[in-house]
Amino acid sequence: MVAAPGGGKGTQGERLAADYGIQHVSSGDVLRAEVRAGTPVGREVAGYQKRGDLVPDQIVFDLLTPVVSAAAARGGYILDGFPRTVPQAVAAADVGRRLDLTLDAAVYLNVPDPVLLQRLLARARADDTAEVIKHRLDVFAETSGPLIDYYRDRGILVEVDGDQPPESITADIEARLP
Ligand code: AMP
Repeated sequence: MVAAPGGGKGTQGERLAADYGIQHVSSGDVLRAEVRAGTPVGREVAGYQKRGDLVPDQIVFDLLTPVVSAAAARGGYILDGFPRTVPQAVAAADVGRRLDLTLDAAVYLNVPDPVLLQRLLARARADDTAEVIKHRLDVFAETSGPLIDYYRDRGILVEVDGDQPPESITADIEARLP
């Protein structure tokens, strides 16, 4: 699932995972759990998250790969927030081939910027301050535009209008999943 910060990845990820009986894996949550665990890697992650910068790929892969492969072994997963860049997508495809995982669809929740801002300012996460939000939206625009094109070119992009009530968004996605 690809969406800007505040785009509804978490909400839709949970709804889809419940409907399909599979696991919702959020890269942001996996990284935040490492921060809470207080490990040296967690302390490094905290700095990136606080600034709204992307965490280096190696750290993301090391933490996420075991979670994804365990979820795959249990029957599948909805991945939210990863991959976030084309290099991550290419590397993820390599790891996927090695672990015999295929990506069936990339769901893009398209939400206009003013709606994103409104939603983010309404929640109270540590990285949801006005300044960090602006930076995260800039990072998304720079890195994820190419990612969306990458999945469109591969023929697996499912783009939905993310500015609707949650249940309508879920219905749109489910109607279009292969
Ligand atoms: P999210 O929960 O998806 O909004 O992500 C929150 C923060 O976690 C981001 O601003 C990044 O610092 C980090 N993060 C989450 N997913 C990734 C990823 N795939 N690559 C790099 N950093 C990530």
